[in-house]
Amino acid sequence: MYLTRSAISSIIDNLKEMGLVDEIEIGPTTGGRRPILLAINPRYGYVVGIDMGATHLGLVVTDYSAHVLEEIEHPFSVTDGPKNCLNQIDRYVIELLKRLKLEISNISAIGMDVPGPVVAEAGMVSSPPIMPGWDGYPIQTHLEELWHVPVSLGNDAELGALGEWAYGAGRGENNLAYIKVGTGVGAGLLLDGRIYRGATGTAGEIGHVTIQENGPLCTCGNYGCLEAMAGGQAIARKAREAIEKGRRTQLSSIEAKKILAVDVAQAAQRGDLVAQQIITEAGTYLGIAVASLINVFNPSMVVIGGGVSQLGDLLLEPIRKTVVQRSLHSAAKVVRITSAVLGRRASSMGAVVQAINLSLDRLVDV
Ligand SMILES: [Zn+2]
Repeated sequence: MYLTRSAISSIIDNLKEMGLVDEIEIGPTTGGRRPILLAINPRYGYVVGIDMGATHLGLVVTDYSAHVLEEIEHPFSVTDGPKNCLNQIDRYVIELLKRLKLEISNISAIGMDVPGPVVAEAGMVSSPPIMPGWDGYPIQTHLEELWHVPVSLGNDAELGALGEWAYGAGRGENNLAYIKVGTGVGAGLLLDGRIYRGATGTAGEIGHVTIQENGPLCTCGNYGCLEAMAGGQAIARKAREAIEKGRRTQLSSIEAKKILAVDVAQAAQRGDLVAQQIITEAGTYLGIAVASLINVFNPSMVVIGGGVSQLGDLLLEPIRKTVVQRSLHSAAKVVRITSAVLGRRASSMGAVVQAINLSLDRLVDV
């Protein structure tokens, strides 16, 4: 559809009257009339981004330019099931808004990610391996009826890809894979500038690629999946096994069954050799899967995010080394493998991108 100059002027006048766009400056001329540059008015409204991990919850409130006004993190357990978890989320959102003297009615839209495959049109998850009790629960409808605010639901790795593309390491990249390494391991794929979800929203479930045919049992019921070899629980399990074998490590000061992946990551950063070996092994397994992903999709960038992203080169080096060994030279030589710039905030910022889009869509529809 083509619009005449006067039709565009009248649309822009409407948007300016609504207060949604501001004229920011007169741009340089390219020969004709000097163009007027427009920007979305950041104060037009507020959105909330929610990152629901398996064991933590991250919430941010931003304005329309995605500037973070307030944020909070809480420990969380996705295994408590949808009703309990969504009640907790409701309380945390209200509490966070209170700090800004805002109410839910001041919010234009809310974006939320979950650690499982999402059927976006239905606003629910489908057979999520690490979200027992959530299969087919109407998450989006539940929250929209509770808040009376439009809600968009996405997969955590997909929204991590979107967040890093919009505001992080992947700015300007059209072919980007974001690998979220947490309790679960998943990939968000941005291909030709668009998020790729596949036929039923399960695309990017790299955590369930088989790495070792008869390896450890995975949450999905299969054996030897990447997640069971390099996910958060695998990292913690290997630390416990090392202690049981009597290896010398700083981790033996923690009660064995309480050891978490984050403890292993911190010990590795302090120079603990056993912890470093566990992280290197996890990096090698991740590298095997990432090499295959690179062969299939030929991305220009792979961003490693999630709870372990603060490890930097300790984790990236074994991934890079394995990718060089195992992916096709023509694909490996162009790909950059880097940590998430937004760190743990990547997914919640992706949720913010979706929330802003959703609220703009609603405004245009009115
Ligand atoms: Zn699996």
